[in-house]
Amino acid sequence: MLKKRIKVRATLQLQGVIASNACPYGCGNSKTVHHLAISCPRAVAVRQSFGFPISTNHEVQDLFSLVKNLIPSVWLRVWDTMTVAILWNLWLARNCKVFDNVRFTIPMVVRQCQDTLKLWFLRMKKIEKQAAQHLIDSWTD
Ligand SMILES: [Zn+2]
Repeated sequence: MLKKRIKVRATLQLQGVIASNACPYGCGNSKTVHHLAISCPRAVAVRQSFGFPISTNHEVQDLFSLVKNLIPSVWLRVWDTMTVAILWNLWLARNCKVFDNVRFTIPMVVRQCQDTLKLWFLRMKKIEKQAAQHLIDSWTD
């Protein structure tokens, strides 16, 4: 699903839009969806900030399936939302780097993920809010 819709540099290079598919953060890898979401050192650092047990061997779709077997059960009701919040903010940070040459630090991206979850918290059902609140409470300011 994500692989066909997100215009990462590898896709744009295949379409002849750009000449290089290199990661805009200069990590030396090609910019694929997997790289953006899973294996780029920046994505790894953001997930590690949250203590999420995701390895670079996981695929993007694993975030919504296999990884659920590795997380504390208290996170299950908010896991998909938090995963989307992280993917969304990795994508936004990448766009700022590519289009505006603005490089967000890892703590800035982590804060944006937290703020996104807090914003989306307002739309959650009560049982999801309890899980989200547990996750939010685990973050230190
Ligand atoms: Zn990278």
